[in-house]
Amino acid sequence: MAPSSIAILGGGLTGLSAAFHLSRRFPAAQITLLNKDIRFGGWVHSSRAKITLEDGRETSVLLEAGPRTLRPNSKSVLELINLLDLSSSLLTVPKSSPAARNRFLCLPGTQGLLRIPSSPLSLLTSVLSPKSSSLHSPLGHILLSAIAREPFRKWNRLSWLEDESVDDFLTRRFGSEFARIFGSALVHGIYAADSRELSVRAAFPSLWDAEERGRGSVMTGFLHSSRGSATAEVDDAPYQLGDVEEQMRGVSVYSFSQGISALVNALVRELRAHKNVRLLGGVSANGLRMNRRTAQFEITTSSRETLRATHVVSAVPLPSLNALLTPNTPLPHLTANPYSSVTVVNLVFVVSPGHTLHPEGFGYLVPRAVSGHAENTILGCVFDSSSMSAQEAPWSAEIVKMTAMLREPVVSVPRLIETLSQQLGIRLPDPLLVKVRDNVHCIPLLRVGHLQRIRDLSCVLRGEPWGGRLEVIGAGVGGVSVGDCVEAGRRAGRSWA
Ligand SMILES: Cc1cc2nc3c(=O)[nH]c(=O)nc-3n(C[C@H](O)[C@H](O)[C@H](O)COP(=O)(O)OP(=O)(O)OC[C@H]3O[C@@H](n4cnc5c(N)ncnc54)[C@H](O)[C@@H]3O)c2cc1C
Repeated sequence: MAPSSIAILGGGLTGLSAAFHLSRRFPAAQITLLNKDIRFGGWVHSSRAKITLEDGRETSVLLEAGPRTLRPNSKSVLELINLLDLSSSLLTVPKSSPAARNRFLCLPGTQGLLRIPSSPLSLLTSVLSPKSSSLHSPLGHILLSAIAREPFRKWNRLSWLEDESVDDFLTRRFGSEFARIFGSALVHGIYAADSRELSVRAAFPSLWDAEERGRGSVMTGFLHSSRGSATAEVDDAPYQLGDVEEQMRGVSVYSFSQGISALVNALVRELRAHKNVRLLGGVSANGLRMNRRTAQFEITTSSRETLRATHVVSAVPLPSLNALLTPNTPLPHLTANPYSSVTVVNLVFVVSPGHTLHPEGFGYLVPRAVSGHAENTILGCVFDSSSMSAQEAPWSAEIVKMTAMLREPVVSVPRLIETLSQQLGIRLPDPLLVKVRDNVHCIPLLRVGHLQRIRDLSCVLRGEPWGGRLEVIGAGVGGVSVGDCVEAGRRAGRSWA
């Protein structure tokens, strides 16, 4: 049955993307989107802060408290850039630039940064160069020995195993040191979580698939896929990319001159212009039930209006959806995954011309400590000035902007600056600006078994009383990246036509 009225719960990127695509696919349907916050965009939070330099000059800096850069591999986001006419405000970081090539780790309990070799050549150079050379890095040895040995390890996945943690997977194939250092750091950077809890199949499905393709060896599996065995993309609704895909050739990451909120603002502007769409900011859904007599959903809201809809898309965090349901129509697994919290600290420093406070690069991550040692509260730090300096005025070369990600709220800013100084191996000056934002329960930790639980949930949603007319999407279901969320919104309601 084609929908005549659609309610979308949640106005983060998932809900906004769903509203955009559903309004195009079902122009005759009345679409209402409810968002608890008055501001749309969920965790996307770009703002500009004014700063005054010592000589009295005024300027502004762009600060991100949520997502800050996107990878060009998500076609659904590129499509939005094209359809919403955002390409003129794109800022791209080429793969060849130091900001893309230089990524660092800071090993817990040590001072200074270690560069992660970014190519086979730099890996060899880092291993072969004399210890005194700046290129020498213990990371090179760990990486080289893990990668070189992996193809010779026998198939070691138990036949009944359907999923495991990222840490268990990497330990099995690449050894425990590799898993602790590289795996945990990567998971800190993306999920702000512990790699011992995160499902490898949900978070990094390409690793699991490569192991299968390579008959036990991940490296062999990857080699096979790069020899052209990748299957052609099958999609009944081809992406409308214009020339944006071409613009993204050779790009490592990108953002916009006004930050990631540019995407949210453009979606909101576009949706407000659609006659069949109603955006309600500052209105939360308080209850969701199916009225079996009218075969319509009834959504009670904080504005006391009861919304009725033939179809519903839930794009709110899964525990929030759980709280909306009545006890006699529960949905399974909505509270199975915990959510990580991240404190984001934007720091702006002023340096004399020609000086900097960190090496050119994307930033650094802090891996898990060796067991028995205290974990660092800093998960990593992004060097915004290296990658996205174009977000500031061209003469702002004296400004160094970086963002620290912490697993806990900040207790003392001077202590944080001291720890960052130790990690960077440089005495940081007093910052000109510090902005702290505690993002509480912001990133779902997709625990082992997540994919099976989502299959169970989909199965229940296809049955009575939902009949396939309630779709549950968002970061807690199909993946946390902005690309995953926008893609999920694009796919919403595909079975309703
Ligand atoms: C600090 C941080 C950094 C990140 N960095 C990156 C990055 O660099 N690159 C990247 O790709 N991804 C990044 N991510 C991940 C990505 O930003 C998020 O996964 C994504 O934005 C989630 O979108 P969503 O719409 O699914 O959920 P949310 O953003 O959580 O939106 C849910 C919305 O639902 C609303 N809501 C909740 N309950 C109700 C209710 N009862 N009724 C109505 N509305 C309700 C909320 O107000 C909110 O607006 C980052 C995330 C965080 C937190």
